[in-house]
Amino acid sequence: MTQAGPSRSIPASEQSDVPATTSLRQFVVKVHSRCDLACDHCYIYQHADRSWRDRPPVMSRDVVAQTAGRIAEHAADHRLDTVHVILHGGEPLLVGHARLRRIAEEFRSALDRHCRLDLRIQTNAVRLDARFCDLFQEYGIKVGVSVDGDSAAHDRHRRFADGRGSHDRVLRAVGLLRQPRYRRLFAGLLCTIDPENDPLRTYTALLELDPPKIDFLFPHATWDAPPPRLSQRRTPYADWLITIADQWFTTGCPVPVRLFDSMLSLLAGGPSLVESTGVVSVDHVVIETDGTFEQADSLKTAYHGAPSTGMNVFSHSLDEVAAHPGLRERRRGLTDLCSTCRSCPMVKVCGGGLYAHRFRSENGFDNTSVYCLDLLKLTSYFQDRFRLLRQSGQADTEGA
Ligand code: SF4
Repeated sequence: MTQAGPSRSIPASEQSDVPATTSLRQFVVKVHSRCDLACDHCYIYQHADRSWRDRPPVMSRDVVAQTAGRIAEHAADHRLDTVHVILHGGEPLLVGHARLRRIAEEFRSALDRHCRLDLRIQTNAVRLDARFCDLFQEYGIKVGVSVDGDSAAHDRHRRFADGRGSHDRVLRAVGLLRQPRYRRLFAGLLCTIDPENDPLRTYTALLELDPPKIDFLFPHATWDAPPPRLSQRRTPYADWLITIADQWFTTGCPVPVRLFDSMLSLLAGGPSLVESTGVVSVDHVVIETDGTFEQADSLKTAYHGAPSTGMNVFSHSLDEVAAHPGLRERRRGLTDLCSTCRSCPMVKVCGGGLYAHRFRSENGFDNTSVYCLDLLKLTSYFQDRFRLLRQSGQADTEGA
């Protein structure tokens, strides 16, 4: 495959419109680069980028300390009142209890005196136990769990290397998080869409876990590697989500669904709540186990090396990272989009979808999303729903 550059360059005439530096607020810290599951839809191990193979499995003490220091420096320089640190992987719980405690201590001691630290962990939860929960309690770490629905839906993809499903382990972990003493740590569920799974059964299974929030993710795909079954059905992802949204509206929106709330917020003139909707300025960066700074993880689906910045925590400040051409390009607003998206009636809500999903090897990211037809249908559906809500006086900038 011909490899396009990491991003198209910004024409000189437009460069003055793009701030060279701005503050970054979200930091995805890869404390472990391997996983105990072998999910077949994983964008880290199964897609184009293979950089995980060259990285140390675990983030060392030095890298953790330097990362925390860099974020603290950035928070102080930009007088940030809040920063968001997400402990991520691979599977972050593979670091074990003792090391995770040291990591949490490092971030708390470096950052708590500068700003409010929103510390989170995103996990497959198969190793989540009461000891981890006690530790999360002690350090105020909120927990997001990846689960794709009932056991049939979940175990279709989220399996161990020997083929065993992981759903029963995840249910046990969520059961822990639902206990009154840990409940406030439970941040929500993250479900990757598979149109092969029954949408209502999937949604019901997620609701039964009583989460404070649900998020649905489109599986990462590009024009070079399109999503499964897209050629056979016109809008399978929109149809799947609309079936759930119909049920969600009919039952009075019983739980926040980030994707849906984000579209309603944008339609009401409010902010986007997720990177995959609206015309958003990227304010996050990834720190890998070896201390290298990378752009959004989703770019791993585009081509090998796509998220790379060439910078690391030991030699570069976060202001330098924010000035990287790849991140600057993501602050260009509408001019970041291809001409088709710019003239699309749904662009305010859709925003061209997730940046990585626009990739095609011939011309990089200057395309509509590979999910364009789905996004057009989904955003139009939400526009109709929003009109109805407004007519009944129920619409506000927070969503339904
Ligand atoms: S619906 Fe398609 S054309 Fe419209 S903004 Fe989204 S990706 Fe672009």
